[in-house]
Amino acid sequence: MLNVTQTFLPPLEEYAKLLEPVWESKWLTNRGMLVCDLEQRLCEYLGVPNMLAVSNGTIALQLAIKALGLKGEIITTPFSYVATVSSIVWEGCTPVFVDIDPIHLTIDENKIEEAITDKTSAILATHVYGNPCNVEAIEEIASRHGLKVIYDAAHCFGVKYKGRSILKHGDVSTLSFHATKLFHTGEGGGIVTANEEIRKTIFDHHNFGHNGPEEFFGLGINGKMSEINAAMGLAVLEHIDDIIARRKSVCEAYDAALANSGVALISLREGTEWNFSYYPVIFESEERLLEVKNEMNKKDIFPRRYFYPTLNRLPYLPYSELPVAEDISRRVLCLPLSAAKTHPDLGAVAELVTAMSANSNV
Ligand SMILES: *Cc1c(COP(=O)(O)O)cnc(C)c1O
Repeated sequence: MLNVTQTFLPPLEEYAKLLEPVWESKWLTNRGMLVCDLEQRLCEYLGVPNMLAVSNGTIALQLAIKALGLKGEIITTPFSYVATVSSIVWEGCTPVFVDIDPIHLTIDENKIEEAITDKTSAILATHVYGNPCNVEAIEEIASRHGLKVIYDAAHCFGVKYKGRSILKHGDVSTLSFHATKLFHTGEGGGIVTANEEIRKTIFDHHNFGHNGPEEFFGLGINGKMSEINAAMGLAVLEHIDDIIARRKSVCEAYDAALANSGVALISLREGTEWNFSYYPVIFESEERLLEVKNEMNKKDIFPRRYFYPTLNRLPYLPYSELPVAEDISRRVLCLPLSAAKTHPDLGAVAELVTAMSANSNV
């Protein structure tokens, strides 16, 4: 069976070794040694000034929205994972969708201003598939209108833009370290901000609002990462260069096999050093996508429709029409991609895509 991704697991002995001090100290959470160690190593690896490890990428978004004190409307993208938008609603704000740019598939910066009202407090945009948003345009619009910017950088582990970490953009960037992501801790997430005041607020919020054992600075939630998860992160991090190199070679094999297949491939924004996080292909029609997907499923190959449906169709939100996102979302399929040593059916995947697209009468 070939799934859209396969979680990288470090050798069990390496993970067990990292857990030895946890067994000795019996210290399983509340910012133990391993969480602190992981945060420091991630700062070094990613080239960011700070990193708060949290329990998942969704709580990372919620903590960011809460710490920035956002109210009213938040401008966001319909083409992302559901957590981008559900966290806005969960924090009592209203998502306002702006359509995506058909080339890069990130929020269309040219349509943001017309969506701004006197209730808008922020822009929450996703660097989808690790492809950076137009950060310069977004940050210029935000500063002109006094808006905060959060980037959902769940797909961006290791992505650089114009020579520096993409995580350095926005008031806050959030990461997911879920088992399906490029770098993972089983469940987990991370928060990066260059602003010391915001960093402190998020830190206090993520630990129940505690200010020492018997005092509280205010409201908080439990967003802490455990030592068990941090150990997984430390074990995976040892292999990260290898993981990225292997995924790169899979992407290159797909690129070569699909060069004349008639499907459109990802267009990275100029200046991007990418992380090979996803391999989306865009078919000429939804019918063609479904045919290819069915054929693959028959052969035990399971690509995923990331991201379908678009988030403006969530049952708890009023529908608004977003033609570009809805069109792309119906036609995009993510092919299997992982750091697994062998991808036995990789050729079969590419052949199916090519054969079936060549049949098309486009
Ligand atoms: C995975 C993902 C999340 C949620 O992260 P979890 O760690 O699973 O909570 C949020 N946004 C995007 C774009 C994602 O892909």
